[in-house]
Amino acid sequence: MEIKKIRVETKQDESAPIRPWLLAEFIGQEEIKRIVYTAIKSAKQAGHPLGHILFSGESGHGKTTLAQIIAKELGVNIKIVTGYAITKPSELISILNNVEKWDILFIDEIHRLKPNIEEILYIAMEDFVIDMVMPEGGSVRIPINPFTLIGATTRLEAVATPLKNRFVYKFHFNDYSQEEKIQIIKRYMKLYFIEAIDAIIQRIEEKVESTPREIHNFIVKIRDYLISHTEHNGKDFSFDESFREDFDQWVNIDKWWLTSLHKKYLDVLWEYDAPVGVKTLAAKLWVSEKSIEEDIEPLLLKLGKIEKTTKGRIIV
Ligand code: ADP
Repeated sequence: MEIKKIRVETKQDESAPIRPWLLAEFIGQEEIKRIVYTAIKSAKQAGHPLGHILFSGESGHGKTTLAQIIAKELGVNIKIVTGYAITKPSELISILNNVEKWDILFIDEIHRLKPNIEEILYIAMEDFVIDMVMPEGGSVRIPINPFTLIGATTRLEAVATPLKNRFVYKFHFNDYSQEEKIQIIKRYMKLYFIEAIDAIIQRIEEKVESTPREIHNFIVKIRDYLISHTEHNGKDFSFDESFREDFDQWVNIDKWWLTSLHKKYLDVLWEYDAPVGVKTLAAKLWVSEKSIEEDIEPLLLKLGKIEKTTKGRIIV
């Protein structure tokens, strides 16, 4: 029973300063945090595993981060695995067999689990047991350590109902408000020693997409730009108006702050002048289909530049 192919992360890299590590440091999603806080407190006080949790919401909204925070707040290990990486029942059985008491198993993109693998979870979640198929035929039921499953999905509608029903808590990550985006921008600026006046922060907020991941990526670009364009004098980098114009050009962002990949994507649609499938777009842009759907299309859809039709993507 080997799980060689699956990347199971068990250690949290706390040297990485970018991720918030405590519930109090996680900006936004107040309702989720409030309930999670109560559940953690109860689990710790009563000494029982935390109820299983299902997170849904767009990529980059903080699902993995919050799962890691929960593990940290509970003082348990977290094993991180992606739904599509588990290809055989034996692989999931092996993971479940190795969970320690009250550990968290985080399955990202849980809607991509195959039905025969998903079924193993049903009984494991409910009764903390697994059925091991014996080489000579038949199966034996063996107990596993009580654990908490945190599932995450970008496609809640694709999660099978019996699986959905086994989660005690189901949370949807809402979009971040303007105020929360500003707090996230300020947090990352502080972490990267960048100072900026409120007017600049306001402009970044207006232009950047509303996922924390995009915000973080954007601040990293600003940091890289400032490092290569200024003499560091031991103080914070100052991102002021004079820099902003050069910076806009440097990252190849036009007035909608589109990147060169967004532009290439639109060029392909212009070129075809007909609906174009995601496979073709991925091949033309040399990126994965996932990247087309998760990194490039959200902004174009938001700006109303493209539409997804049953025949493919069209320019609007
Ligand atoms: P998801 O699992 O939903 O795709 P992640 O948890 O991987 O998203 O988050 C993507 C990035 O955004 C990470 O670098 C994380 O630290 C950051 N991040 C996510 N949510 C927040 C938040 N609420 N406050 C600050 N940073 C956040």
